Amino acid sequence: MQESADIIIIGGGIVGLMTARYLAREGADVMLLEAGDLGAEASGANAGSIHLQIPYPEFAAYGEDWARAYRPCLEFLKQSLALWTALPAELGADLDARFAGGITAAWTGAQMDRIRAKAEIEAEAGVETEILGRDELLRRAPYLSPEAVGGGYCQPEGKANPLRVILVLARAAACAGARIATQTRVSGIVPVRGGHAVVTTRGEVRTGRIINAAGAAAGRIGAMIGTTLDIRGFPLQVTITEPLAGLIPHLVYSAAGKLSLKQVANGGCVIGGGWPAREREDGVLVTDPESLAGNMGVAARVVPALARARALRSWTAWVNGTPDWRPILGKDPDRPEMIHALFPWVGFSAAPMTARVAADLALGRSSPVALRGLSLLCD
Ligand SMILES: Cc1cc2nc3c(=O)[nH]c(=O)nc-3n(C[C@H](O)[C@H](O)[C@H](O)COP(=O)(O)OP(=O)(O)OC[C@H]3O[C@@H](n4cnc5c(N)ncnc54)[C@H](O)[C@@H]3O)c2cc1C
Repeated sequence: MQESADIIIIGGGIVGLMTARYLAREGADVMLLEAGDLGAEASGANAGSIHLQIPYPEFAAYGEDWARAYRPCLEFLKQSLALWTALPAELGADLDARFAGGITAAWTGAQMDRIRAKAEIEAEAGVETEILGRDELLRRAPYLSPEAVGGGYCQPEGKANPLRVILVLARAAACAGARIATQTRVSGIVPVRGGHAVVTTRGEVRTGRIINAAGAAAGRIGAMIGTTLDIRGFPLQVTITEPLAGLIPHLVYSAAGKLSLKQVANGGCVIGGGWPAREREDGVLVTDPESLAGNMGVAARVVPALARARALRSWTAWVNGTPDWRPILGKDPDRPEMIHALFPWVGFSAAPMTARVAADLALGRSSPVALRGLSLLCD
């Protein structure tokens, strides 16, 4: 392969594919390079939650100062969610996307106080969270444990099927004219006259602009141009149960333990929430039985019907994480011909807006959102 493209995207996860689609639709000459298969890392293996609210466990652990610093991310996620809701019609495809809202259930008065405090900061970012007493909570979500004392309800949140999303996006990007090369790992970036040579396992591609959408491996791409990026992979696991009759329309979280829970189109309940998987000595990820037991325990406490459901399958993947949860988004300060498009932890939810920003910058436009205060690159 000895080719050229005006814009090269490194990474065929949801961010890379969405960016490729935006760029190709707008007439750019764009090529996407993916080391393995499209969506084979976090983007195809995630839990499919479309989050908006401040995550309760992090709010409890890091406090209000952290949450205030996170506020620009909420505004960003709100805009991303608006793009998500339009996406099925835009793509003309069923993505199993549903937006019935997210509920954080509480078990103590102290947890309710925290949900209230969290809601105040969310409101400052224009994100409304309704505070529900026990009766109203159980009326709206009768599947929850009667031991719940109340909760917070964030109406815009939802879910989509990550595998469908990846397949549909890949088709849409290719139909719009993006060139997509899978099994093509980038191993180096060399400055050449008029741009860069992107060195891959299948040859070189010459380009003027590069978008780093390599997710958990983005630090290695940064290192290729001499930039240190504070992002790395964290091993996570998710589990799905056997199909149950229609029970849970919402995205469900608990204030008493890490949980994200939803029922998908075939009736299975997808249970996760940031429980760690284990990395074997050979680097392969495997499910951690302690995480599995802990995660199922929290889920069954929140939704008692799940105590009788069999878990069918657990899977693992590396999530892209930054220490304070803020994205690395924008032009590289030293090498502006590279644009980093990295939204950590909830990158599925944030992908449409992350891709929009990356595409606009690559086209020479200004970012549609303020990056100062949002992106770690602009501190
Ligand atoms: C188990 C799990 C559950 C999650 N649940 C949720 C959720 O419910 N909601 C949510 O919002 N987020 C969730 N996330 C996070 C979310 O999945 C990620 O933040 C998001 O998918 C990141 O997308 P991406 O396109 O940036 O990166 P990725 O999906 O990681 O894609 C990056 C791509 O770059 C490729 N690549 C890397 N290095 C190279 C190279 N040198 N050359 C070429 N290609 C390369 C990789 O092969 C990969 O395909 C979850 C993550 C995990 C792991």
